[in-house]
Amino acid sequence: MEKLVSLAKRRGFIFQSSEIYGGINGFWDYGPVGVELRNNIKSFWWQRMVRLRDDVVGVDTSIICHPQTWVASGHVASFSDPMVDCKTCKGRFRADHIEAIPCPQKPSLTVQACAGDKKGPGELTEVRQFNLMFETFVGALRDDSARAYLRPETCQSIFTQFKNVQIVSRQKIPFGIAQIGKSFRNEITPRNFIFRSREFEQMEMEFFVKPEEPEMQKWYEYWVAERFQWFQDLGIKPDKLRQRVHSQDELAHYAKGCVDVEYQFPFGWSELEGIANRSNYDLSQHIKTSGKDLSYFDETTKEKYVPAVVETSLGVDRTLLTVLADAYAEDVVEGEERVVMRFSPAVAPYKVAVFPLSRKLAEPAMALEKSLRKRYVTDYDDVGSIGKRYRRHDEIGTPLAVTYDFQSEEDKQVTVRDRDTTKQERIAIDRLEDYLKDHLKL
Ligand code: ATP
Repeated sequence: MEKLVSLAKRRGFIFQSSEIYGGINGFWDYGPVGVELRNNIKSFWWQRMVRLRDDVVGVDTSIICHPQTWVASGHVASFSDPMVDCKTCKGRFRADHIEAIPCPQKPSLTVQACAGDKKGPGELTEVRQFNLMFETFVGALRDDSARAYLRPETCQSIFTQFKNVQIVSRQKIPFGIAQIGKSFRNEITPRNFIFRSREFEQMEMEFFVKPEEPEMQKWYEYWVAERFQWFQDLGIKPDKLRQRVHSQDELAHYAKGCVDVEYQFPFGWSELEGIANRSNYDLSQHIKTSGKDLSYFDETTKEKYVPAVVETSLGVDRTLLTVLADAYAEDVVEGEERVVMRFSPAVAPYKVAVFPLSRKLAEPAMALEKSLRKRYVTDYDDVGSIGKRYRRHDEIGTPLAVTYDFQSEEDKQVTVRDRDTTKQERIAIDRLEDYLKDHLKL
């Protein structure tokens, strides 16, 4: 993890938020390369979940919505985690994670070992419940009537807008509504880099089905398989992915089933995505609380019902951490150790880098890079030796690097170097676009 965090900063993937003020725990900023990677992951999801399908449409809803939304969903009453304080070091921890959190004063011991097992001086308070929603006030007043929340998940406005979206999109059940957007949770102990933060982005899809057991089960199984495959298509190593079925006592009272897709992170197997059969609990709650009819009328069978939902819920930042951890490799090239990020071309921040061998060749090399920009995200790099530039782009994960040299002026060819094999080939400039297309498959 340390290597990953340091590479992420060094190459401009991720910085600590507000670093010059000492940082703010649980918040992160994405740099020039990080934002490209992030956008590529989001597009890969959106393309597969919305654009390539007939039965899923997208929305983009507001972060702050009517506070009754969170009363209906149950978040105001019970979106909380168990919390304990240590009377000795004054640390505050999520009670169900103390076996993994290091003690702030004695990092060689976990909080559990320091206090719970009495190997150290720690003494924990009773467990209390802590609501994770960030509160704010809308308008000039600062009283209860103005209290609102930053959304802790994106899906609730999909439920509250269900009727509007169904009507305008002319969709018939079964169909889904997808959204990518920011969520906020005042996590008690944000940790493991961007794995658990207080501001993050989610990619969620609610698939509405007839609330009958065989139909719900069929779609639940379909989405578990589809989402598991998506990670492999993203380029994640299959042996580092697994499914974990929630036991009956882990399920929310309304849920009929839940599977987590887990990844083997450097800190162990952890949840990446949850796929849940949520029954028709959410829509029913919003019907009850708002008094509005959110039921569905089936024109063919003339039946009216409140649809059930299969949800797929995934964090952008967690996926990005997975992509980083999975791509990270160290090998030896020409007797020198290198770090290389083996991103699949679809997510790589830059697809091609263009280097002039000498700054004297800046003009034709820049012209070549500009011509490639129309199709690919590229980077022009003329700083340091060619070897240094290769190393830099290996760490950024750029699949192909093109060098324009003095010979190129004569023979109209360039050298293309492959990030993974480090093999170099001379390619005619007028064939370069076709070559890139063949190799990147984009
Ligand atoms: P946990 O129990 O670990 O706190 P959860 O099971 O409540 O999390 P969900 O509500 O199912 O999480 O969230 C769906 C997805 O959103 C998660 O699988 C994860 O990818 C992402 N996510 C949730 N919380 C965070 C967070 N604090 N930081 C980053 N991503 C998160």
